[in-house]
Amino acid sequence: LQFHEMGLDDRILKAVSKLGWKKPTLIQEKVIPLALEGKDILARARTGSGKTAAFVIPVIQNILSWKNVNSSQEVRALILAPSKELCKQIYKNVQELVACCTREVRAVDVSGQIDIASQRPVLVEKPDVVIGTPSRVLAHLQANNLILKDSLEIMVVDEADLVFSFGYESDIKEVLRYLPQIYQSLLMSATLTTDVQSLKKIVLHNPVILKL
Ligand code: AMP
Repeated sequence: LQFHEMGLDDRILKAVSKLGWKKPTLIQEKVIPLALEGKDILARARTGSGKTAAFVIPVIQNILSWKNVNSSQEVRALILAPSKELCKQIYKNVQELVACCTREVRAVDVSGQIDIASQRPVLVEKPDVVIGTPSRVLAHLQANNLILKDSLEIMVVDEADLVFSFGYESDIKEVLRYLPQIYQSLLMSATLTTDVQSLKKIVLHNPVILKL
């Protein structure tokens, strides 16, 4: 399956081609079509497999499709990752993939050094995608800087196994209380440990499990 056979927006295809990506990696070939169908997914995926684009592309597609017919500005996607470094990396990947639609898709990484209060203004403007560590995102939810109850469509937890080793489990559980009843979830993890299985139970509904 090629990128242009996945039903993706032309602006994504253009960005992919600008990056020089000739074809999807294995995980992208499996994850993107299922994610576009709206499925919850647990994917075993290692760094270097192209896992980031595997979830970022469906997130961007979701936003662009929605914006084609809607004009209100909402936070549609939440991406949680267990370290600031990883958040930064994901943010960079998002920027690369929205290179041809920067005006339509705005992403914010809230994991940085800046304090919560200083980040409030940018969140109040409702970026399309919010990226952050579970603790930082929770702090913004608790401070009412970020409201996801009415608008969130898709949540991603990247490197889900590290969420546990870094002690973010209770923060994630707390974050879930601020999310809508129904949304799509994608869980990416290098291993499928019992910890990840327990997160799977609380985050995913009838997931497709991909052991790549
Ligand atoms: P990741 O596993 O997400 O950390 O990605 C590893 C590297 O592969 C990153 O530098 C990506 O920019 C790159 N990459 C992702 N998808 C593709 C693709 N389909 N073709 C070539 N390179 C890719």
